[in-house]
Amino acid sequence: MKFRNPRQLIRPFRIVRSVNAISLEELRSEGIRGIVIDLDNTLIGWKLLEPAPDVADWVRDALDSGFAIAIVSNNVRAWVKSVATRLGIITFVHTALKPLPFGVISAVKQLRVRRKETVVIGDQLFADVLAAKLLGIRAILTEPIVTREHRAMWPIRALERYLLRETTKRTP
Ligand SMILES: [Mg+2]
Repeated sequence: MKFRNPRQLIRPFRIVRSVNAISLEELRSEGIRGIVIDLDNTLIGWKLLEPAPDVADWVRDALDSGFAIAIVSNNVRAWVKSVATRLGIITFVHTALKPLPFGVISAVKQLRVRRKETVVIGDQLFADVLAAKLLGIRAILTEPIVTREHRAMWPIRALERYLLRETTKRTP
């Protein structure tokens, strides 16, 4: 994949309000079979302990309808494992160090899907989207579940907004 403009490297395939706004039928029609998904602020709000019910329903629907799903998170094993278990997701990668692509590579291998049949879903341009695009995998950016975040994220979010300023938002 060639990137003539550096902004292409972090341009998501699609932007949605939340995970449950993603149409599984649309993903299927786009040839997607594998879903690699971020945990914090994508499946669970920052500092919250339970997955959002709508998101949990979406995950169940996806699993029931035959999608292979893996969580790839930069968070620690105990947390990632407990959320994965609650959501019925068997495959997970913890301490993934996104935007390094190794966690996504490992997840795709474990799911036994091809990269072109995979989508990465997450709330951070510089972690989730970048890791996916370094591998030529499509990425869907979600808005963070909880907009109040650790202040270390503020400058990163400001830069995301700047880089996405010309990207049309698709409203679900
Ligand atoms: Mg996240």
